[in-house]
Amino acid sequence: MSKKLPDKYGKFGEFGGIFAPETLMPPLEELERKYRIISKQKNFKKELAYLLTEYAGRPTPLYLAENFSRLIGCRVYLKREDLAFTGAHKINNTLGQVLLAKKMGKSRIIAETGAGQHGVATATAAALMKMKCYIYMGETDCERQKLNVYRMRLLGSEVITVRSGSKTLKDAINEAMRDWISNFSNTHYVIGSVVGPHPYPEIVRNFQSVIGKESKRQLFKKEKRLPDYLVACVGGGSNSIGLFHPFYNNPAVKFIGVEAGGLGINTTKHSATLTKGSKGMLHGNFSYVLQDKYGQITPTYSVAAGLDYPGVGPEHSFYKETGRAEYVYATDDDALKGFHVLSETEGIIPALESAHAIGWLLKNKKRFKKGEVIIVCLSGRGDKDVTEVAHIENVF
Ligand SMILES: *Cc1c(COP(=O)(O)O)cnc(C)c1O
Repeated sequence: MSKKLPDKYGKFGEFGGIFAPETLMPPLEELERKYRIISKQKNFKKELAYLLTEYAGRPTPLYLAENFSRLIGCRVYLKREDLAFTGAHKINNTLGQVLLAKKMGKSRIIAETGAGQHGVATATAAALMKMKCYIYMGETDCERQKLNVYRMRLLGSEVITVRSGSKTLKDAINEAMRDWISNFSNTHYVIGSVVGPHPYPEIVRNFQSVIGKESKRQLFKKEKRLPDYLVACVGGGSNSIGLFHPFYNNPAVKFIGVEAGGLGINTTKHSATLTKGSKGMLHGNFSYVLQDKYGQITPTYSVAAGLDYPGVGPEHSFYKETGRAEYVYATDDDALKGFHVLSETEGIIPALESAHAIGWLLKNKKRFKKGEVIIVCLSGRGDKDVTEVAHIENVF
């Protein structure tokens, strides 16, 4: 259990690795080599710790949600990533990667974004560290997320509209890859979750592990013990792995990852990759994916844009395969219930993504016993989703 993962080939068991065109190997090799050196340097660690504290507002509170706990029947703590600067956990990763890029001598940042959350977090870090920043975004997504496009522009980034293919995230990823291959001598590609080819799943996990490390310390101070359960929503898998990973060698701590069940996992409208998917290749690594019998990636859906992804980080596939974590799902309706209940009981409007974890707990509260302690990752705040929910519920 203590074996270090990923191994030197970037594998978590059979998952992960590098499945990429030859032209992508030089930038990936450079990234891994420099990450190994820079991430160990005292200066890098000190500067990143400074930014996380003074700029992003860490540590985020570990809050005992007493009213919500009464509903569940045991003690539920919320790890308040919604209170991190820009309103979600994504800033932990973008500050880390942009600082790394700077230390690698890069002057140019690229990223791709679907709903725009990762684009905004990247543009924020790039503005702070005076890096030129280009965000690839599908034309359809640009129209759906006009406000985030404007946010990125306000932050000094250039948003490049991608008009090829389905004009959504996967086409934006293709364009970003193409850019990186041509420009890697001065460019770093910031990937937004624990996905993509090695070393990204490891790098993003390490930057997001601040969530679990803080939680462990904070809970120990309050309860003098480890939690019984960790619960987090899973899109690409970064907020969940960030919470889970520091507890990997504490086998008594159970991990529960909540995927997006959309309109139901027996429809085609969901993003429950680990629940309903099979092993396959996507975006440079081997993991669980949602695919048809020809291995073509199938379209996904969730009310929460951040969970709407047909793949999942390879470390999660490894946790599933080895039984280290359990993967479940919450439907749109479960999540909307969670959205309302947390708002009413605690005065905290959660992101629709995080509301999947809340909704799953409400539906499965019988599993938990009095005296048990649960930590839920509240990955983001719900302000971004209020208009959408009002629209769904015909409020206006
Ligand atoms: C992007 C996002 C997610 C999903 O991404 P992970 O990599 O699975 O964490 C979850 N919650 C919020 C608030 C997000 O913005």
